[in-house]
Amino acid sequence: MEEKTIVEQLSEELTYSPKHACRLVEESEVATADSFCEGYKEFLNICKTERECVRYIVDAAKEKGFTEYDYDKKYSAGDKVYRINRDKSVILAVFGKKPCKDGVRIAAAHIDSPRIDLKPSPLYEDEEMALFKTHYYGGIKKYQWTAIPLSLHGVIFKADGSRVDVNIGEKDDEPKFVITDLLPHLGEEQMKRTLAGGITGEELNIVVGSRPLTNDKGGDLVKLNILKLLNEKYGITEKDFVSAELEIVPSMPVSDIGFDRSLIGGYGHDDRVCAYPAAMAAFDADSPEYTCISVLTDKEETGSDGNTGLQSSYLKYFIEDIAKAEGSEGYRVLSKSSCLSADVNAAFDPTFSSVYEKKNTSFVNRGIVVTKYTGARGKAGTSDASAEFMSFVRNVFDSADVVWQHGELGKVDAGGGGTVAKYIANLDVDVVDVGVPVLSMHSPYEVVSKLDVYMAYKGFKAYFEHK
Ligand code: MN
Ligand code: MN
Repeated sequence: MEEKTIVEQLSEELTYSPKHACRLVEESEVATADSFCEGYKEFLNICKTERECVRYIVDAAKEKGFTEYDYDKKYSAGDKVYRINRDKSVILAVFGKKPCKDGVRIAAAHIDSPRIDLKPSPLYEDEEMALFKTHYYGGIKKYQWTAIPLSLHGVIFKADGSRVDVNIGEKDDEPKFVITDLLPHLGEEQMKRTLAGGITGEELNIVVGSRPLTNDKGGDLVKLNILKLLNEKYGITEKDFVSAELEIVPSMPVSDIGFDRSLIGGYGHDDRVCAYPAAMAAFDADSPEYTCISVLTDKEETGSDGNTGLQSSYLKYFIEDIAKAEGSEGYRVLSKSSCLSADVNAAFDPTFSSVYEKKNTSFVNRGIVVTKYTGARGKAGTSDASAEFMSFVRNVFDSADVVWQHGELGKVDAGGGGTVAKYIANLDVDVVDVGVPVLSMHSPYEVVSKLDVYMAYKGFKAYFEHK
């Protein structure tokens, strides 16, 4: 071997820059990552709403020996429990060898994604076409949601209180839905609009039918035909839409992206790409030192408000319950606890490089990104992880050979955003954001790297297992 020059030697010892995971791990681990992602792809194909995620994860948890949390039961090290919050959020917990009063380890991810909800009275007819009125959910670029195949998911409660589950537009033989856009030939005025106004909220109308009930004269026969079909299929009437939660999502299946199959394209990576690894890490946590909790929450995309979002008390109440069961106080447990706020960050996009600051941005394939702070402008709305906690997390990942990088959300003053981190920090818990870098975030077809998905799992697992 040639001797290293002083420059080479000092560069190696003193400088730091995150590297492509392929340069850091064995080929066998790349294969492990690829196979881990096959499970993730299946999850992403099946789970397109928060309710579907809860159902899938609870079923998988039961198979792994988790039981529904019972306040009156005494739990011991290694016991595994879940608690469902209104079918839209779920807490998974594995009791540790140490008592909860020594603190618990929390991984918090969200299972809601940007989408298009139906309005309470959605169905109308205009010139013999039937359409749904919608109200979009979360931060979307509206123009991206036109002229793509869409599916309808959700629940409807009928007059007698009985529940109907809806999932249509995913299978090959099922009809799909679409939001139409204007042809370029007649789009001259529309093309003068800004990108933000290219399609407005009230233009996000879903085409659901176009044939009349009969050839009778009379108004709204196409609408009536749709109501008849809905009544036959689901037993519902128009009034039942008022007591429903119906979500329109992209119906394109998940695919590998690239000749090398290194990436995954699909809807809802934000934040199921962290929720799935966080759930798997809880499933694989066998008798950990500290009690491990994965909380998979709803409503992050609209600000974490509401009783299924993390601004509500449901996580705090669960921790109070497990604290009381061992004769401790919930607030004491929380004060000693820590949390990885598991959410995605914006991956560097070579096509739009001007919004990123390369030294402090995450890149696909460089592992999970640790985001010390989020927020906008002068860190407004951030919880900003302490240097002490950053040191702990760095040590957890390095000691378990987790490939990780640091990053913030774009250039200073380029925009900004937030996660659930600050709401958990408000409970007096040490928190930092850790997640997977995403390309085309919040679009109908987001892109992540397989190696990063696997490193998220490895990272959450290392955090749960760290002594
Ligand atoms: Mn997110
Ligand atoms: Mn988001």
